[in-house]
Amino acid sequence: MLRWSIALFRVFGIRLEVHATFVLLLAYAGWLGAQDDGWRGLLWSLAFVVLMFAVVVLHELGHCLAARRYGIRTNRILLLPVGGMAEFDSLPRQPRRELAIALAGPAVNYLMIALLVLGFGWPPSLAEVGPPTSLREIPHALLGVNLIMGVFNLLPAFPMDGGRVLRSLLAMRLDYLVATRWAARSGQVIALTIATWAAYGSYFDGDNLWLLSALFLFIAYGAESEYRFVRDREFYAGLIVANVTRRDFLGFPPETSIATAFEALRRSVSQDLLLIGASGPIGVVPRSRVAAALRAGREQEPLAAHAEHDFAVLQAEWTLGPVVAGLRRSRQRLFPVYSFDRLIGVCDVARIDDAVRLIHHAAPRRRARGAL
Ligand SMILES: [Zn+2]
Repeated sequence: MLRWSIALFRVFGIRLEVHATFVLLLAYAGWLGAQDDGWRGLLWSLAFVVLMFAVVVLHELGHCLAARRYGIRTNRILLLPVGGMAEFDSLPRQPRRELAIALAGPAVNYLMIALLVLGFGWPPSLAEVGPPTSLREIPHALLGVNLIMGVFNLLPAFPMDGGRVLRSLLAMRLDYLVATRWAARSGQVIALTIATWAAYGSYFDGDNLWLLSALFLFIAYGAESEYRFVRDREFYAGLIVANVTRRDFLGFPPETSIATAFEALRRSVSQDLLLIGASGPIGVVPRSRVAAALRAGREQEPLAAHAEHDFAVLQAEWTLGPVVAGLRRSRQRLFPVYSFDRLIGVCDVARIDDAVRLIHHAAPRRRARGAL
């Protein structure tokens, strides 16, 4: 399999990886520097990127070490051209813990700003803060990077730290999913406003802010996927495949004619059919294929000729959430469900959400407040 990330080394036992597209950023920065000041510019520009990402790594380590205090392990820190990403093996549901972990990253930036100002003083003008051109300028360049990261990350927009801060603060009072929705929506409003402003400035005023605009569109999209992820997780929480397994399904021996199958299908639940052999299901027949065969005048043909013999089955005891995520990517719509080697029914992808809604109606879930 093609791997898109390259492992660098471990810090505090956490694997540090850099994404392959990072090379593009290095190339772009190098090119910009070379335009400016030849070889010298190129080298300083590359050094600045490395410096910037050293700050990103320290920021991510802030999150990781705070998470470790709560027993949450970090799988890896991945460096992307747009910034860093720490992958945790789980996420805290307790708002206070989420708040502490989210704040720990920017806290590292502000700590570094404080140390740099104490050691080297405040730069005469922030407008001069940029890629260094001599060793003497490095502290102020570092200060600029930390300032941008510290401020930028605290914008209350998912998937940035500020979005998590906002969500955890809301979740202290509101239902977790509602809090996530508010945090995601407010983040999208902010991100789209900035993206529009940057695009406007680029188009009408000739400021080259297209990259910034694209970045904030990406952030608005990230907010949406974060919200959907949480929504799905909450929706399927506590359920297993057995909870959405139907006992009524149409199963036929392989030699059944298309005409017979169609007649049965017309009078019963509208879902795909199972082909049942001597030892259990041996195929799945999409109902659209039965109809198509009939239309083509092949009503006397056996059902087996139109079956999908290569099909997946589910186990009744599997946790529903991850299973649904997999089913959404599959072309198969009907899955035989087994419990301890015994066929207990089927799972129809199109009806899972209906079944879950019915379950929620019958027993409203306790609203998790997530107090510590
Ligand atoms: Zn962060």
